[in-house]
Amino acid sequence: MKTFDAAIAGGGLIGCAIALELSRAGLRVALFDARDPGREASWASAGILSPAPENSAMIAMVPLGRASLAMYPDFIASVEEMSGLSTGFRRKGTLETLFSRRAKEELNTIIALHHGLGLKAEAISAQEARELEPDVSDEVEAAVFRPEEASVDNRLLTAALLEAAKRSGVRVFSGSPVQSIYREGSTCRGFVLHDGEQVPARFGIVAAGTFSSQIAGIEDFAPVRPAKGQMVALRCERVKVERVLWSERIYLVPRNDGRILAGASVEHVGFDKTVTASGIHSNLDAAFELVPALAAARVEETWAGLRPDTPDHLPIIGPTDLDGLLIATGHFRSGVLLTPVTAKLVADYLRGITPSLDCDRFSPLRFREAASHRKVSGVSN
Ligand SMILES: Cc1cc2nc3c(=O)[nH]c(=O)nc-3n(C[C@H](O)[C@H](O)[C@H](O)COP(=O)(O)OP(=O)(O)OC[C@H]3O[C@@H](n4cnc5c(N)ncnc54)[C@H](O)[C@@H]3O)c2cc1C
Repeated sequence: MKTFDAAIAGGGLIGCAIALELSRAGLRVALFDARDPGREASWASAGILSPAPENSAMIAMVPLGRASLAMYPDFIASVEEMSGLSTGFRRKGTLETLFSRRAKEELNTIIALHHGLGLKAEAISAQEARELEPDVSDEVEAAVFRPEEASVDNRLLTAALLEAAKRSGVRVFSGSPVQSIYREGSTCRGFVLHDGEQVPARFGIVAAGTFSSQIAGIEDFAPVRPAKGQMVALRCERVKVERVLWSERIYLVPRNDGRILAGASVEHVGFDKTVTASGIHSNLDAAFELVPALAAARVEETWAGLRPDTPDHLPIIGPTDLDGLLIATGHFRSGVLLTPVTAKLVADYLRGITPSLDCDRFSPLRFREAASHRKVSGVSN
């Protein structure tokens, strides 16, 4: 195998976007995937582009999410142009619906939180919500409209990114799992593949999603674990949903091909991707509550995927204390949103540029330090 400037483990959205960014910067790039690229979380996702925090743990990620959302229009334009493929990017805003009798009070709290985080959000009445989305339930009491948010068809985007990366000269190796880092002292010199072949590279970048921690030498930097999500795709000619809709129990995501995806579940059940009756029942029940006419919809597809979750639910992006080794994983529920900014951050780190955003809290070293502590004190978990 010849020598590369950068070898990337993992061909999901994150790995493909990094490969494209580095190749466009003139580096010789190799991308390795355990199977066909883009068949894991990046395929299973809903493709919502929303930096609004779903819980307090995600507040720390808002600046990163906002930066990435702002990059999306140019990112999509260049990927579509380079690949000749469309990505189903929809910039119609998103609507968070509130059902409770205390909706008006909740609304004030949500809007204040959003504005405090620099997010554009408008409080709207139930009637205004139904003017935007006529099929939402009569039980909706109020809503939050976030006009800047969007969605993308993540399956189309992954395919387009991969094609753009190939056209820009990235060498793609499918069915080639990375086994371990190729290490000499405190330097990473590339990767070792499953068949023992060494791939020399100035930089090794681990972007294998929830499987990253299975690569030997990576565990302490990227203690990712799978968080299963189940999805169902519906089609109903009578129902028109224009933008991403949320309730407390579900999100609905319209695609350009007329399908409406329903999802939300987060289950920590290991690497199991079984679609269960209770998972789909709960998605459908919540979907009918939000848009009752969907009860007449045809079920077109069901699937499950594994989000790369981390101990603090924040992504892991940046250099390690091994020269030449970088990590870009752990994007949990926001990897599609964070794809453009992650690729840019990795490219900046490689060039020795300090990111303009404060990214210390996403450093892989935060886990390395905790792991060394455990080893010194003999504690295991
Ligand atoms: C149901 C669901 C809904 C979601 N909804 C959203 C959403 O609405 N918005 C959003 O922003 N995010 C969402 N996410 C999260 C998002 O999909 C992920 O954060 C993102 O796709 C992670 O991308 P990735 O490239 O890191 O990982 P993946 O897409 O999982 O790619 C990892 C790749 O690494 C490969 N690989 C594995 N082991 C090895 C190895 N040893 N060597 C080489 N390659 C290897 C795999 O084959 C795979 O191709 C959702 C996820 C799920 C599952």
